[in-house]
Amino acid sequence: MTNSRLLARSLQSVWHPCTQMKQHETFPLIPIERGAGVWLYDADGQRYLDGISSWWVNLFGHNNPRIKDAIKSQLDQLEHVMLAGFTHEPVVALSEKLSELTGLGHAFYASDGASATEIALKMSFHYWRNQGQPNKTQFISLKNSYHGETLGALSVTDVAIFKDTYAPLLMQSAQLPSPDFRLTEPGETAETYALRCAAALEDYLSRHHARIAAFIIEPIVQCAGGMAMHHPVYLQRARELCTRYQVHLIADEIAVGFGRTGTLFACEQAAAKVSDIADFICLSKGISGGYLPLSAVLTTDTVYQAFYDERTVKGFLHSHSYTGNPLACSAALATLGIFADDAVLEKNRDLADYIKTQATPLAELPIQHLRQQGMILAMDVVDAKPGFAQRCYAEALKQGLLLRPIGNTVYLMPPYSISREEVDFMLNATHQAIRLAL
Ligand SMILES: *Cc1c(COP(=O)(O)O)cnc(C)c1O
Repeated sequence: MTNSRLLARSLQSVWHPCTQMKQHETFPLIPIERGAGVWLYDADGQRYLDGISSWWVNLFGHNNPRIKDAIKSQLDQLEHVMLAGFTHEPVVALSEKLSELTGLGHAFYASDGASATEIALKMSFHYWRNQGQPNKTQFISLKNSYHGETLGALSVTDVAIFKDTYAPLLMQSAQLPSPDFRLTEPGETAETYALRCAAALEDYLSRHHARIAAFIIEPIVQCAGGMAMHHPVYLQRARELCTRYQVHLIADEIAVGFGRTGTLFACEQAAAKVSDIADFICLSKGISGGYLPLSAVLTTDTVYQAFYDERTVKGFLHSHSYTGNPLACSAALATLGIFADDAVLEKNRDLADYIKTQATPLAELPIQHLRQQGMILAMDVVDAKPGFAQRCYAEALKQGLLLRPIGNTVYLMPPYSISREEVDFMLNATHQAIRLAL
């Protein structure tokens, strides 16, 4: 009863994200009352395993005691202060930590992923301008890329359903061939295909570099574009080319950062440190363990120094009200503390192996490209009838699993705190949901 009243009130007053609201006439919202570990509980006591970490943000489960305690104790100290002209321990400690982990020594903060993309694009352009190269005004990205949905971020995004409507509002940008290994030709390996895509990048840069400020890429896995995975050699080549042609490389690790692909940052699959690959890294989503909105862009000393000047206009005059919020930074510090103290990356390797083994029965279904990268498992359903994603979502919910397929791509991105029994439950429910949704 309380449930149905809440649903009616929500539909009256809340405009839900990424949703055609009319569909909720037939397809009810789910009112969640509380979370614990990998589970979300609704008002009727029905529970759902959060198989996608609530849009990829939750790393160590809901109601995590360590992150919660960190926020609570910060709350007794200082909830917020503006970061222009002021500073505080959590933002300093977090910046030092992120700098040590990435090799990029200067951290600029915002509250969401799209804003991090905007910051990296603006900073890159402004760097070249400060260096006397005002013609570097363009950005390039990969086909099928996703970097957020504000106008600048959407300009470098290449997902038609998000982009096409707004095309008249966007900056021009070029999308280059994606090293997505599903696109290899017969006889080609993921690596030789990645090198072929790098050659296309080289060709483009050799002709247009004078006008290009930066190349933005999601390293290793293009997530919202359908969990498209690529060989790390692409990142190595892209780095070389960006150096040769004086173009920044922006690593958008908003989704793949914080252990999702198996290493703390995805760039580490191509080099010892993020700074060996990227001039900028964008971080958000998992940064606060899924607790509070926070994003950061880290960059090099070289970039930082180009803004350091007597003249105000040479500075980076970008700001967000909640920049460097102390509560969010304390959640991020607790999240990094868990990585350090609980050997998370090592444990995830075993967990990922277990997921791989237990996922083999999925191959009985009409799927192709069953693929895995660290704590991401994905597969493409073939010959599904139209509306598959919506049906699969609904069938999974009936089984007690939160899944949100991207078109015909079904993927799992569970919190790292998932147990083996819960993995079994998740994979069985996925199997059933796909079978029933075909
Ligand atoms: C989610 C995401 C973004 C945008 O982050 P928001 O917080 O949703 O604005 C940008 N890039 C990538 C790779 C993402 O996955």
